[in-house]
Amino acid sequence: MTKNITIIGAGIVGIATASYLRRDGHAVTVVDMRPPGEYCSFGNAGILSPGSCVPLALPGVLRKVPGYLSDPLGPLAIRLGYLPKALPWFMRFVAASRAARVEKIADALRSLLQQTFDTYLPLTENAQCSDLVRQTGYIVAYEREQSYRNDALAWKLRRDRGVKVEPLDRAGLARRMPQLTGNYAMGLYLPEQGYVVNPERLTKALAAQFVKDGGKIEQRKVLDIEFGPDGPRTLITDAGNMSLETLVICAGAHSNEFSAKFGDNIPLEAERGYHVTYSDPDFTLPMPVFLPEHKFFVTPMEMGLRIAGQSEFAGINTEPNYGRAEVLAKQMQRFFPGIRETEATRWMGRRPSMPDSMPVIGPASKIPNVWYAFGHGHIGLCGGAPTGLAIADLIAGRQPRMDIVPFGVKRF
Ligand SMILES: Cc1cc2nc3c(=O)[nH]c(=O)nc-3n(C[C@H](O)[C@H](O)[C@H](O)COP(=O)(O)OP(=O)(O)OC[C@H]3O[C@@H](n4cnc5c(N)ncnc54)[C@H](O)[C@@H]3O)c2cc1C
Repeated sequence: MTKNITIIGAGIVGIATASYLRRDGHAVTVVDMRPPGEYCSFGNAGILSPGSCVPLALPGVLRKVPGYLSDPLGPLAIRLGYLPKALPWFMRFVAASRAARVEKIADALRSLLQQTFDTYLPLTENAQCSDLVRQTGYIVAYEREQSYRNDALAWKLRRDRGVKVEPLDRAGLARRMPQLTGNYAMGLYLPEQGYVVNPERLTKALAAQFVKDGGKIEQRKVLDIEFGPDGPRTLITDAGNMSLETLVICAGAHSNEFSAKFGDNIPLEAERGYHVTYSDPDFTLPMPVFLPEHKFFVTPMEMGLRIAGQSEFAGINTEPNYGRAEVLAKQMQRFFPGIRETEATRWMGRRPSMPDSMPVIGPASKIPNVWYAFGHGHIGLCGGAPTGLAIADLIAGRQPRMDIVPFGVKRF
């Protein structure tokens, strides 16, 4: 039976979910105060990584934090005044780093993300934008072999779950990516991974196709939700009220503002990241490269070369600190000396991050006809289409392709 479904959020997760629900014949309306793909889904690193099954919280994570924080070019920043507010989230983060928990999280993430390419394909074919997706693999480059040994657990978690990882010696790394001219000890090639050459354009192309296929997108800010006797009945927006039957929350880092109204207090943080995109860098790369000692990706996009990374905890509504983007620009100069800096743009985005690195996918715990699809943190582009299909399966009463229980809201 088809339903009237409203989705809050036109990022990649909301638009992929809308597309899959529309394919099932539902009447679907997406509500967002911005045009599609103009919030966190705008400026990510573009990586599509079915092998990204390693959570951020690994055993011993706390030991690394002081080093990251004291390094001015480090990947992590916490605004001191915000720390007390973020503390409960960090405590859950540390709790998620226990070895047994990490194995289970890796299983769940792998079951979601191994569907990445399969679930994007029908959407991009329909929207005639499959050229945005490249299955080139990506490179990981280590300056010190010891750092690779320190990351042994992360690589074991991937290999144990069937992710192909090909080691590269110094010469092999130079052959795969001659643009890396620094002093690298070794590298890895992950052949099954890929990327999107313009994440904003992907979301916009899928959104345009969704509308062509009969879906609706309303540009409004959702201010509140009113309840009837058997659940939410009305969206209060800055452009009038909208009646509701079935509701899906895909509002990225703002999603817990809505889930709280349904009695689910979900630990979601805005983990801010930055990019610098060089539209005229004077060279390109054959595929993305990840520098694990500094935690950033450099991706060859259709707009130029993009360096993206950084984890900044400073609250959702504070102004961007473009000093964090300057850190990325300095890294770019260090690893690609001579890169042409004219025409470089800087951006900040709010990753919707859960302490256990797992999105929330499934029904609200207390209210019928309300569904959650948010909290994808570092993997929202990879996880967008698999999440959309899972939500469509759940609403249709079909068995999703993966075990949905680990993603449920009841884990908190
Ligand atoms: C620097 C950086 C690099 C990244 N690299 C990668 C990567 O390589 N690969 C990857 O998979 N992921 C990556 N990510 C993560 C990825 O970008 C996010 O996980 C993903 O974009 C989240 O998508 P979303 O649809 O959940 O949220 P969003 O794109 O943030 O969309 C949420 C939408 O909800 C709307 N909204 C919120 N509140 C309201 C309201 N009250 N009324 C109306 N609308 C509302 C917002 O306007 C927004 O459009 C990266 C992130 C960053 C910051």
